[in-house]
Amino acid sequence: MSIAKNHHFNDKVVVITGAGGVLCAYFAKEIAKTGAKVALLDINLESAQQFADDIVKDGYIAKAYQTNVLDLASIQATRDAIAQDFGTCDILINGAGGNNPKATTDNEFHTLNLPTDTKSFFELDKSGIEFVFNLNYLGTLLPTQVFAKDMIGKQGANIINISSMNAYTPLTKIPAYSGAKAAISNFTQWLAVYFSKVGIRCNAIAPGFLVSNQNRALLFDEQGKPKERANKILTNTPMGRFGEANELLGGILFLMDENYASFVNGVVLPIDGGFSAYSGV
Ligand code: NAD
Repeated sequence: MSIAKNHHFNDKVVVITGAGGVLCAYFAKEIAKTGAKVALLDINLESAQQFADDIVKDGYIAKAYQTNVLDLASIQATRDAIAQDFGTCDILINGAGGNNPKATTDNEFHTLNLPTDTKSFFELDKSGIEFVFNLNYLGTLLPTQVFAKDMIGKQGANIINISSMNAYTPLTKIPAYSGAKAAISNFTQWLAVYFSKVGIRCNAIAPGFLVSNQNRALLFDEQGKPKERANKILTNTPMGRFGEANELLGGILFLMDENYASFVNGVVLPIDGGFSAYSGV
């Protein structure tokens, strides 16, 4: 039985950005089982629509909305449509985010005499760095500006952001993504304080390393044997394994649910098999 069945969000409106993506589509599917009305927002409507259709087919309440989290007019139009369809937002999950190859170095360390075709720190593309900062940071801030206005004074209102292991100690190669996720952890605390007098809690999860269809080829060879990067991750994860998307769900439901977390405000919850606690020694 799904652990979502232990939580009851009947008639609550849960807005999830990036819900056409791997993690947030899964969260949307499970959160719908709590009785919530789930709004799946994504720039890629086709993907969000497919997941919303699956949820409705299973007998729960969901609808997809094409939304660009970097465009205030688009977010505002979605806010109005959701208000018509379901009512105003009670819980916001800011899930849209990610990295971009243009903001990723080829090398982990700078060394003398690199091959001439190496994309080092010095070759990183300004537009790629802007893309990553904007998507992760502004893409969390702008939907919060639009939806939190409606959440003020509502019983059980709260916001959940998605940070990352990068926020504690940057991973090699991805300085923009690491910096943007550090900003998300910081912003989570800022929002928790700012909205503390009007009844909106704000927390985040920081997922450890998961295997998904997107990174499977980066981590494993064709025989399913871990590659060098996968081995590094496993060596630095005390529990010695990758996490699964369903292992993030308990943290999300706990933070969302005022019966469990009514005094939890401003935390970034690592769900990482001990990665962020381990010095490697
Ligand atoms: P994903 O790429 O599968 O999903 C991201 C979704 O965001 C996509 O559906 C994409 O269309 C959407 N999106 C992109 N730009 C958008 C925009 N401008 N407006 C609206 N939607 C937009 O990613 P995921 O793995 O499901 O990750 C979800 C969140 O979790 C992200 O914030 C990511 O940084 C974070 N995260 C993921 C992992 C992981 O291992 N997968 C680990 C740590 C943190």
